[in-house]
Amino acid sequence: LDDIAHPVAVGIEMAGDGAVMPRASGMADSWFEHDGQITKRPVRALTLSALAPRPGEILWDIGAGSGSVGIEWLLSHPSTQAVAFEADPLRAARVRTNAARLGADRLCVVEGRAPAVLEDRMRPDAIFIGGGLSEGLLDAILRLPGGRTRLVANAVTLESEALLAQFHARMGGELLRIEMASVAPIGRRRGWKAAYPLVQWSVTL
Ligand code: SAH
Repeated sequence: LDDIAHPVAVGIEMAGDGAVMPRASGMADSWFEHDGQITKRPVRALTLSALAPRPGEILWDIGAGSGSVGIEWLLSHPSTQAVAFEADPLRAARVRTNAARLGADRLCVVEGRAPAVLEDRMRPDAIFIGGGLSEGLLDAILRLPGGRTRLVANAVTLESEALLAQFHARMGGELLRIEMASVAPIGRRRGWKAAYPLVQWSVTL
């Protein structure tokens, strides 16, 4: 140990064979317990990049699923805050255990359906819509009092994509289409297996 010059090196030495949590957003999906409803790692990295957390800011993670987006927001800086809204009770419970296990237990979990659960709240610094996207939800968010809010919404279905295209025409912002493929076996060979294309709308309200 005397030969080790940097304390950081000692830390890594002590970690042994255990998993070492990375600092960058877009952690492997396996860090989060989930039932398949999770924003996959590459899309999550792009989502966090669009949400652009800054120290002290508050996020709403609407349709939190496993909680991965809210948790990575909280891991970006110890002064950030986040509220996770999740309609499904089992998933809401899972968000809590994921947050506690990953050192983000200051995540506030609200079990309920948006937009009803958002009533009477001030709009936060950033909002992510990962589930429950509808015209009613977007209208409700626009009606809430508050200052500047960065909104990021992900859509997979044609219907929700059309909704984002409409709001983009009206309000501007940025539309990003994310198409990804990863290698999967085709018999004894390999081929690109495409994921559903995803459309992401980012706008400052
Ligand atoms: N971003 C999440 C995955 C979201 S999956 C993650 O990385 O884990 C979409 C989630 O939205 C589901 O868990 C679903 O139960 C939830 N949901 C759907 N409609 C909702 C609504 N109106 N209000 C709250 N949650 C909703």
